[in-house]
Amino acid sequence: MEEIKRFKVVIVGSGPAGLTAAIYAGRAMLKPLVIDGMQPGGQLTITSEVENFPGFPDGIDGPKLMNDMREQAEKFGTGFMFDTLEKVDLSQRPFKLTLGDAELLADTLIISSGASANWLGLESEKKLQGRGVSACATCDGFFFKDKEVVVIGGGDSAMEEATFLTKFAAKVKVIHRRDELRAAKIMQEKAMKNSKIEIIWNSVPVEVLDVEKNEVTGVRIKNVKTGEESVVSCQGFFLAIGHTPNTQMFKDQLEMDEKAYIITKPGSTYTSVPGVFAAGDVQDSVYRQAISAAGTGCMAAIDAERFLESKEA
Ligand code: NAP
Repeated sequence: MEEIKRFKVVIVGSGPAGLTAAIYAGRAMLKPLVIDGMQPGGQLTITSEVENFPGFPDGIDGPKLMNDMREQAEKFGTGFMFDTLEKVDLSQRPFKLTLGDAELLADTLIISSGASANWLGLESEKKLQGRGVSACATCDGFFFKDKEVVVIGGGDSAMEEATFLTKFAAKVKVIHRRDELRAAKIMQEKAMKNSKIEIIWNSVPVEVLDVEKNEVTGVRIKNVKTGEESVVSCQGFFLAIGHTPNTQMFKDQLEMDEKAYIITKPGSTYTSVPGVFAAGDVQDSVYRQAISAAGTGCMAAIDAERFLESKEA
């Protein structure tokens, strides 16, 4: 029978958190293995230009940044497995991981499987993604100087992103499915006081226009109370309807908050299971930036290295 391969460090997910963890664990001679996951490179691979990652005064293309991080991780001896984690047993060490085609053992596990923005699920939304449709105002707002944009959602993110977008856009229309916002009062007030922001109540998008032109020219919305449809013109379509952390396979094995984000011990990447560390968006519902993910990825590798050292001593 073939022996199951054992690794000192297995990293689940290959976004900025996972790849930074790999660079650090690689340089510590731990020969980490990265399991790529469903979206190799993570959320940045669906962003066009990244202008806020330090070190790139002229900005850098999202996929290029992730490729460079990958190359850097490879240079220090990281192995990659283009596969997704299907099952994991964290009840004893080494942890047992089941992938599509293989089983692995891991002395430590760094979870950096990220979070995925929620989408409405419209075909037009998918087709115009990156062409005016975005789920990240911080990343893409800058490209809408003096343009009209819409923000979908009524939570804190929607208010924050709408307010942020007024720095660039001429007009920001928030489209919300109810007649009451979910956002904290203070965030609501700030948005409502802003003369560039208008709220369209009781409405849901039914189609992003215009797939034929391959750019956003507006959105067809439906009033959920009257059933009436109308078109709101805009050049940018921003979703702020929440994120879902990719933690399903760790359910019931790790401590998570009510939204299924992994809970880490403050000031570290330690999870509720010794030897399991979490970095990046999978444990962060607040900042969700590439640079903060990279920072916690670095922490996770250092935490894993020290954990291994303490076990060997
Ligand atoms: P959220 O609180 O879950 O709000 C999501 C919003 O999107 C809700 O208004 C919801 O409508 C709407 N929505 C969900 N699915 C929809 C759909 N299919 N179609 C149309 N609308 C839909 O998410 P969030 O705003 O991203 O916030 C997530 C967490 O981060 C919250 O705990 C929030 O407090 C926190 N946060 C804090 C700050 C801050 O303090 N600075 C900033 C951002 C986020 P309903 O209201 O009808 O459900």
